[in-house]
Order: sequence, then structure tokens, then C-alpha cells
Amino acid sequence: MKQDAFDYRVLWTWDYCTFWDDSNFIRGFGATGENKRRRSFLDDYKRMVDFCAVHGINGIVIWGALRAHNDGEQQLKDLVRYGRMKGVRILPGVGLFSYGGVYYDARKNNIGMTAPPEYHPYSLHSWLKEHPELSAIAADKKPYATGFLSDLACPSRIENIEWFKRALAWLFQEIDVDGVQMEVGDYAVCHCDLCEKKRKGHENSVFCIEDMIEPYTIACDVIKSIKPDAWAICETYSSFASPHQDNKREGFGAAIDEKQKSLLRALPQETIVQWVMDRAVGLAPLQKWDEYSSTPFKNNISRIHAGSQHTLHGPDEWAIHSIGDMVQKSRQSAINGISIFGEESPASPPSEANYLIFSEFSGYGNPNPNCSMNTFYAQTLDPLYGGSGMSREWERIYISGHIARLNKQLQTKTAKDPRHFHPLHLAIDQPDLVDIVCSMSSQERQKYTLKLIAETHDISSKLSGESCRRWSWLENWLWRAEYLHRTIIT
Ligand SMILES: [Zn+2]
Repeated sequence: MKQDAFDYRVLWTWDYCTFWDDSNFIRGFGATGENKRRRSFLDDYKRMVDFCAVHGINGIVIWGALRAHNDGEQQLKDLVRYGRMKGVRILPGVGLFSYGGVYYDARKNNIGMTAPPEYHPYSLHSWLKEHPELSAIAADKKPYATGFLSDLACPSRIENIEWFKRALAWLFQEIDVDGVQMEVGDYAVCHCDLCEKKRKGHENSVFCIEDMIEPYTIACDVIKSIKPDAWAICETYSSFASPHQDNKREGFGAAIDEKQKSLLRALPQETIVQWVMDRAVGLAPLQKWDEYSSTPFKNNISRIHAGSQHTLHGPDEWAIHSIGDMVQKSRQSAINGISIFGEESPASPPSEANYLIFSEFSGYGNPNPNCSMNTFYAQTLDPLYGGSGMSREWERIYISGHIARLNKQLQTKTAKDPRHFHPLHLAIDQPDLVDIVCSMSSQERQKYTLKLIAETHDISSKLSGESCRRWSWLENWLWRAEYLHRTIIT
């Protein structure tokens, strides 16, 4: 298999919840909360860089990359150098009109939830505090009331774009990064007269393609003028597949129409355009991604959220079917970039399997030229799980226990949107398991889970070393689920 099937093989992260070194067991408090994870920044990310270097992954996106506390600027400089040495680009996530701008959090010491913001020329909050007239405004024509890390700037004001140009230039010159991933913001749009005139519809969306064209073009020019080989990744928040059965026609992950694609055509060809393909992959996709699905660009990254905190299945999701499908479809479509989440450590077997299929289907690791799932199970997973057929057995028990753990809220959600849990049947060939489990009482679920625990223990007790560890992890995970069934709150 060609090893250069994809130019861009990227892990996507927020710094506050990247958890590769759990000698610091605290996670951050959300993107805008206190970040106690930062003290372990280099311990987390150097481990990730080492793993990436071994598995052919050549980029790591970090949102929240620039923080003043814990000597954050120096941490980032050190990590960029370390990554470069190992062939892995460190790519800060930067917001043009949102997500804090280029310098995410300028507070040097007191970073508690209520600690006030501090000044930095390339923090979006600092900029808008000096120029409140450049803020985005809500539909009621008043400025948005957000926390200071979520300020919103108006995308139609050239002063904001000029400020972002200066901020980007500083980032490339001062921190010497090898690229960035840019976003305009996906939580609200500006309703000033200039923006509404430009937008021509889509008023109800939380982002607009129209807001991306000029800013991304200018930003890309700045980046390339400073560092010609830098990666300028531009997020669209959208899918290039056809909507097919997907009723979602607007907002994050929706398929955009040809008219909107044609707007994006104005972006410079060296831009790397990033797409959200979650709804077009997996065992029961809603969008259709086939040979007729096109993007107008030379450089594209397909990205999904599987195996992260941002899916219903949670960060321990066994997501090999979605990830494998995305990588395979990307190859068939001549997409030259792929991205998945990287916040979870491969010490967790589901995360490990997710990274391994990402790598193998990209042309690294064990040879698998046709991206065959059967080959992946047999040559890569089975030796890790104790022998022939053992990884499918692990998968069957894990998915069964996972479905049995569905709480009432998830049951309701699953009934409304079957793509979340019902497709898992297909992975383990057990029709209607969700329906069967949902009709069980908590005592019946406990009994069902105890049966799975007994099967798992029977296997783990016969194994040793790393294979035993993966089964023991499952056994412990099932006991945690059993506790929930045993202590049900009415
Ligand atoms: Zn505006």
C-alpha cells in the first residue's frame, strides 16, 4: 500500500481534556472552565507525539494551545520543537471571530472560574474590549452576552480581519508553528446590517459559509507569506456528502448544497479545507458519500468525532467501524487528509483500536491495501486480544454491555434517532439488542451484565500480559455498569 495516500493524518484535541498522562488525574472544566490539566501539558502531548510518530500520524491540532499560565507559551514552543523533531506538526486551533482568537487565555496566575481576564494583544477578548463596536451582535441587535473566552467579533468588519492578520503573523513568528487549524465560530452569527446583507438567508444557522470566504483567504495569504509549507486548515463545519436520508439541512455536520460549495470555490487552492463527515460514515449513515460526492478543493480533510467526549457513546467508544469507513471512503474519493479525536490515551482498548485502524487504513502499521475489516481484526487486533477470533469476542461483549448500560435519556434519544445505538447490532450480529435491553428491568440488566462479566473473567483468567490487561479492563468496565444496574435510582 502506498504510504502517501493521505498528506494530512491528524489528531484533533482540546488541551483541557487531553488525558494521556493520568498521574495528573484531573481533567479541565470544559473549554471555558478552569484548566488544571495544563500542568501536564508536555507530559500529555509528548506521549501523543511519540505515539503519532510510530503510527504515521503527522499532525496534532490543539485548541487552547496558547495559555499564559503554567508558562504556557514556553510549553507550546517546546512542544512544537519536539513534534518537528519527530515529524509531527503541532497545529494550534485559532478562532478568527470566536474561541478566544489566537491567544486563548492570557491569565498568568489566577485561573479560577471567576478570575478576571488579562490583556494580551492577540486575545480576542482584549481586542473587543478596546473596540466594543467591532463585536458581533445578536438578532435583538444587542451584543452577545458570552463569557470572555467565547466573545464573538463581527466577520464583516475589516478591522477584525486586519487584527487577525497581525495575530497570525505573531503566532508564526514568535511561536514558530508549522500550521494552524482555523475556525470562524460555530455558536452564533452576527446580525449586523453588513452581515445580514452578505449572508442572504441561513439566518437561523449558528455559522455561515459566507462568513468564511474572505477571512480564510486573507489568513491563508498571511500564513503562506511567512511560512510557505505551513498547513492552513480551514473548518467548514459542514459535510460534502449528499443529504440522502438526513433531515438536518443546516448547522454543524449538515450536508451543504452546490450553491454553498461554489461559494467556497473562491478559497485559495493551497487551503486545506476541513469537513465534518460524521453523518456520512459508520454502519448506518444518514448522508450518502459515494463517487458522486465532490468537494471543489485539492486539499481536504475528512473529520469525525467518533471515540471522543462529543459523541453519545462517550470517550471509550469502540469506533473502528466509523473510523475505518471514513478512512476507506476518503481513499476512494481521493481525499488527501483525515482527522479523528486524540484526547484519549491508547491505554484504553477502544481508543487504541480506533488509532490502530486510523493508522493501518492510512497505509501505516500492518499492510492492508484494501482497507479490509476482516484483515484488520485478524492481523492486528486478534494478536492483541489473545488469538484468533478473540477481538470479535471482546467487541461483542463490550457492545452488549454498552447497550445494556443505556439510561432512560439515551433510550429516548435512541428511539428518536436510531443511528446512535441500533447500528451497533450490525457490528455484533445480534438483531434488536437495543429493543430487547430497553424492555428489561434494572434487575434483569444486572443479571445480563453479570453473565457478560462471567464470560469475560473466564477468558481473562486464562491470559497473561497485555492481552490479559485488555480483557481485565473490560471486566472492570462491566463491573462499573453492573453497579449502576444494582443501585438504580427511582
Ligand atoms: Zn456583523
